[in-house]
Amino acid sequence: DQTRFRDVLLSIQIVPYGDKEKLLISRDITRFEKLEIMRRDFVANVSHELRTPLTVIGGFLETLLEENKVPGEEEKNALQLMFDQAVRMRRLVEDLLALSRLENAGNDLVEEKVEVAKLLQELYQEAQSLSAGRHTISLDLDNQAMLLGNEEELCSAFENLISNAVRYTPADGTIVLGWKVKNGKGIFSVRDSGIGISANHISRLTERFYRVDRSRSRDTGGTGLGLAIVKHVVNRHQANMGITSQLGTGSIFEIRFPENRVFLTEQAAQADST
Ligand code: ADP
Repeated sequence: DQTRFRDVLLSIQIVPYGDKEKLLISRDITRFEKLEIMRRDFVANVSHELRTPLTVIGGFLETLLEENKVPGEEEKNALQLMFDQAVRMRRLVEDLLALSRLENAGNDLVEEKVEVAKLLQELYQEAQSLSAGRHTISLDLDNQAMLLGNEEELCSAFENLISNAVRYTPADGTIVLGWKVKNGKGIFSVRDSGIGISANHISRLTERFYRVDRSRSRDTGGTGLGLAIVKHVVNRHQANMGITSQLGTGSIFEIRFPENRVFLTEQAAQADST
């Protein structure tokens, strides 16, 4: 069917528009929508099916390496390479699954009051271990405000931004994780003194598999899906994301949550009014 992937032109009309006229083109995009649903289902199914074989392959390779069952150095190196690639594929599959789940979830969001400060303490520890002492990482929590949202999704969005800061900041750099309330809005931020991003790339960063430097992303364990995941979580929480960056100086990723999602404790209310 040649028209399978095409939309159907329904009508073209010229309609009045103030003292001018405008051209109104209507198209039936049902086919696009169907195709998009098929794509999402396919990705979700493939990712799910790949999970188990990858776990088995990775598990056996790890055992062989740990138990020193391979005689020669060359064989050991080859095995290590295979294991690293299996881990990478597993990470990719997990990210693809996470993205499919978010895409397929529609507007459903299981919400709870999330203690962001507590969550950030945990993510701070994770960042420390990922950085392995190469960076100075600090927390800037000026309140205990709670956030209405899905903790698992928020955690994965924050985690992605934090791990990016660690991965794209050379040794001796600084990273600051922040959570504050400003004019009633909840603002989560990650600042780094890393490699930065030039202006022409910024608007495309949240596209799936968009990377400024493919090999750097791969070398540091990236899948190219992190910011696409963040974008979905941000949209599902009616928040917005701001990216400010300068090449060679560093980046600031900020997620701003709307007032109706932020619950001020007394202490946080005082901080907000000063
Ligand atoms: P990846 O797995 O490649 O890091 P992401 O979706 O998380 O994928 O990010 C997309 C791209 O955005 C990255 O490949 C990198 O080029 C750029 N990027 C993201 N965060 C930062 C950062 N903190 N500093 C510099 N570049 C970044």
